[in-house]
Amino acid sequence: MHPTRLGPITLAAVACVTLASCVQPRAADYDLLIRNASVVDGTGASAYRANVLVKGDTIAVIDAQLSDAPAARVIDADGRTLAPGFIDMHTHGDAIEQSFENFLAMGVTTVVLGQDGSSVELASTPAEVPFAQWASAADASGVQVNVAALSGHGSIRHLAQIPDSVRHLDAGQTTRMREVLRADLQAGTYGLSTGLEYVPGIYSEPEEVLALAREVGAAGGVVMSHMRSENDDSINRSIDELAAQGAYARVHISHLKVVFGKGAERGRQLLAVIDSKRQAGIDLTADAYPYNAGYTGIAILFPGWALPPTDYKSIVAQRRTELADYLEKRMTRRGGPEAMLFGSEPYAGQTLAEAARGAGKSYVDFLIDLGPGGGEGAHFTIDQATQDVLFGDPSVAVSTDGSPGMRHPRSTGTYAKLFERYVREHVLDPLKMRETRYFVPESDRSRLAATYDRSDAGVLTRQPDERAFAFNTNHWAFTPGAYGLTSTLDDYLRFTRMLLNGGELGGVRILKRETVRLMTTSHLADSVTDRQWLPSKGRVGFGIDFAVRTRPPADAKENNGVVGEFFWDGAASTLFWVDPVNELTAVLFVQLLPFDRVGLHKGFRDAVYGPFAAPR
Ligand SMILES: [Zn+2]
Repeated sequence: MHPTRLGPITLAAVACVTLASCVQPRAADYDLLIRNASVVDGTGASAYRANVLVKGDTIAVIDAQLSDAPAARVIDADGRTLAPGFIDMHTHGDAIEQSFENFLAMGVTTVVLGQDGSSVELASTPAEVPFAQWASAADASGVQVNVAALSGHGSIRHLAQIPDSVRHLDAGQTTRMREVLRADLQAGTYGLSTGLEYVPGIYSEPEEVLALAREVGAAGGVVMSHMRSENDDSINRSIDELAAQGAYARVHISHLKVVFGKGAERGRQLLAVIDSKRQAGIDLTADAYPYNAGYTGIAILFPGWALPPTDYKSIVAQRRTELADYLEKRMTRRGGPEAMLFGSEPYAGQTLAEAARGAGKSYVDFLIDLGPGGGEGAHFTIDQATQDVLFGDPSVAVSTDGSPGMRHPRSTGTYAKLFERYVREHVLDPLKMRETRYFVPESDRSRLAATYDRSDAGVLTRQPDERAFAFNTNHWAFTPGAYGLTSTLDDYLRFTRMLLNGGELGGVRILKRETVRLMTTSHLADSVTDRQWLPSKGRVGFGIDFAVRTRPPADAKENNGVVGEFFWDGAASTLFWVDPVNELTAVLFVQLLPFDRVGLHKGFRDAVYGPFAAPR
């Protein structure tokens, strides 16, 4: 039993299902029943089959029984995955004024706002506000998503009346900041965010943030940091600065990346640095998004001495040559003017090079004329191989760094891309599975095999294609992971051969040998006796995604097979089968429902292995 929130109603229901004689819950007790779901509950446990009962906005019961519990609304999940909404670890936007439906469409139900040094803001108030004021406005107007808010370091600085020109705080200023932060934490923020590449965080000394980290730690919060630099040659120093705050509070690296870093090895080095901090007792985590471009204002290209509160006009008048020199060097380092794509009007969709050409200027002059506040866009400064390593680490959570309406695909695609891109780039493309995809376009639908319902009398009725192909002709807002793919027999066979070869095919390695071994080794303990659909498969255990034969067939009625074979089967009487002992693979599509009433699987296996031989 896995109740996620315990209230009086939940406790009653939990007690109920453990006592057979107990009365069933009354209809009025539940608003929603989702039955027959494969529940991934977020605790790290494997998926398990269960029914979920919801009362109001609270998950009341998760249980394998109670599939007929009365509820106002019933949804049959039919084995689909059911998970709690995702938590996006780094989010921008105004949860009171803007629609966060792009997040909901990705499965995100909780966003972490107040990032990069800026607290959540109220559109109605030009100045920054204490969190309590924002929270009561949010309560009054309602928000679409759950919000975990951080106190922004820069906003705290402003609320403490410290001008941006101040670099070194005196004792009084430090005390004022700590008081503002303490009030915010008491009002419900989860900790502090810093934006040390932005004004005013860029001017802060490490001691300033250290003092605030003490407040955060005392409240049990976390310091999330857009670090002082993400550049290849200075990111280690940035991590040191953040880790020092870890003496007082949990610390977290926002949108982990190495700007200008190259190759997988660079990613591994950085993870080793993070791990060494953790080994030393610092509670250090990170989040990342799966893209090779950041998105931010063009101020990031300008030197500190040209940023507010400095008067930009006089800088241009007095130090234009020096500024031009700086911008040219910086843009060259960042991949040149083609590697920056505007997302803001009037240049949205144009690279810096194109926009400058359109204006008839050199890109450096164009940037100088725009100034640090002159726009925002995507900066292609992240190496994909490095980012893949960082993103794949278990201590790195997923974030979008997106917002409603942001012109960067991370705002709409981050969570779907996890599946779509990683399946395509790491499995389908290298394996040359060219006809495997989530969505089958109209023009290719005639290639889909029909599905038939077979009655006990043997009468076949063709299922309406609309129903049979619904899954593969529907654009899903959220790519459904490893299932829901349409494939051809040839593509499937390539996949079986890759597994048969211990994870590689044609000299291309798709899976580590040890991963294949885990997939094909039973992980079911003998003490697990409730095996749902496994018993019908004979004497098998369960690896990862595959039934795994652990003992020879017990009698002639059981499906033939050898110890060590692994397979999955299911609707519509399909078999996907690998026998590494005899180096055999097979993919059998029968297209009949319900599952294999004709015993075709058994006939097929008998034909391969010959008559049953009693185990000695
Ligand atoms: Zn940031």
